[in-house]
Amino acid sequence: MKIAVIGAGPAGLCALKSCLDENFSCDVFEKSGLIGGVWNYNEKTGLDEFGIPIHNSVYTDLWTNLPTDLMQFENFPFKCPVSFVRQPDVLKYINDYADAFNLRSHIQFYKHVEEIRPLPNNRWKISIRDLKSMGQELVIKEYDAVIICVGNFNKPLIPTFKGLDKFKGTVKHSYTYRKPDPYKNRKVLIVGKGPSGSDITGLVSKVAEKVVLSHRSPLREYAKFSENVKIKPVIAEFKENSVLFVDGTEEDITDVLLCTGYAFDYPFLTNECGIEVEDNYVKYLYKQIINAKHPTMAILGIPHTTFLLIMFGIQMRFFIAYLKGQFTASKETMIEDAINYEKHRKDEGGSLLKIKKEYYDDLSDTAKIQNIPPVYDKLFRHVLEVGPMKYQENYTILNDEEFIITKLH
Ligand SMILES: Cc1cc2nc3c(=O)[nH]c(=O)nc-3n(C[C@H](O)[C@H](O)[C@H](O)COP(=O)(O)OP(=O)(O)OC[C@H]3O[C@@H](n4cnc5c(N)ncnc54)[C@H](O)[C@@H]3O)c2cc1C
Repeated sequence: MKIAVIGAGPAGLCALKSCLDENFSCDVFEKSGLIGGVWNYNEKTGLDEFGIPIHNSVYTDLWTNLPTDLMQFENFPFKCPVSFVRQPDVLKYINDYADAFNLRSHIQFYKHVEEIRPLPNNRWKISIRDLKSMGQELVIKEYDAVIICVGNFNKPLIPTFKGLDKFKGTVKHSYTYRKPDPYKNRKVLIVGKGPSGSDITGLVSKVAEKVVLSHRSPLREYAKFSENVKIKPVIAEFKENSVLFVDGTEEDITDVLLCTGYAFDYPFLTNECGIEVEDNYVKYLYKQIINAKHPTMAILGIPHTTFLLIMFGIQMRFFIAYLKGQFTASKETMIEDAINYEKHRKDEGGSLLKIKKEYYDDLSDTAKIQNIPPVYDKLFRHVLEVGPMKYQENYTILNDEEFIITKLH
């Protein structure tokens, strides 16, 4: 079995190791010169030296939003005296993983995958541009299976706001936020209270005159920011130098920072691949992994409100079990299952990206593969429940079921 993996971020590395463990032949194509994906800090924004959009979006002083126990590859402990760490610690851990399993020799750097096309015999034709040859060389290769690991945090999702075109200040997405310095003594509107919105609000409020944080969900009382942060509801309209909220209040602002999330984007997949993105939902993926129309393709990391690095492990076990014929499902069954999943989650009113323990149980039951230990889900629920108070706690996993909390001062 000859497998191509696209991307050498955490998902690509996990996919590569899983394939090598099965003695599959595996080539990884990575457009940058580094492993680690978004975890590489890059001061630059916009286009890279080859004219390709810069992938990295981590910023200075980023704290992880999950404890290290939930940010580790399976069977490779993230050893650290504290539970919440900074971006360089994560990058080092990822590099240690690659070195521990000699993964680098299987990765081809500066190889930009430009097109993936299905062949009639369930194989794949992949067009790869060698960026180092100044973009001249386009290599075509064929593989038995392909695993897409290009990350899902690199195309900014920018909602439409009434009057934003009239606003005279700067407007940026968190994708291009690197440091708080440009916001020194400014009046900054931050939109969105997800992990990035909350974290960046804390960082920008240290230098800005004021920060106005607009968000959709009700604010939990323990989400405390400094006194120059005002919490506001949803935006009604922008004016030239201010913003109006749905509660009728108005704030003067000089800059807008949109922490409004990301859109799924796989520009290299031809229409024949059968993958469609609708309402920011990736359709026709069996169990959110396997391309139901061409099941020798998998995409890792679609449900992303979870513990991703652990999830990559079980997603790979699932795909490999399918490739090895350890379970079967017809294309029709896969498509029906994918459609039902979408309907069920929408009826429930739940985000398609937020997954529950049942998702992992389903993967394990369907493919008869090893499930993830329940303690991860328990710790994840706890971290969500305590919100920002998590940064005052350390966690120790005792066994597959239990963890303990140590309060920090
Ligand atoms: C600001 C920010 C903060 C985050 N904080 C956390 C956190 O605290 N905890 C957590 O668990 N997760 C966090 N995440 C999520 C993070 O994305 C994951 O931890 C992890 O990096 C996902 O790995 P990945 O391999 O799927 O994607 P990525 O890390 O995005 O890697 C994808 C790789 O694919 C390559 N690539 C893309 N397109 C092509 C192509 N066409 N050809 C060749 N190569 C290509 C890219 O260059 C990149 O190296 C954060 C994300 C962001 C943006």
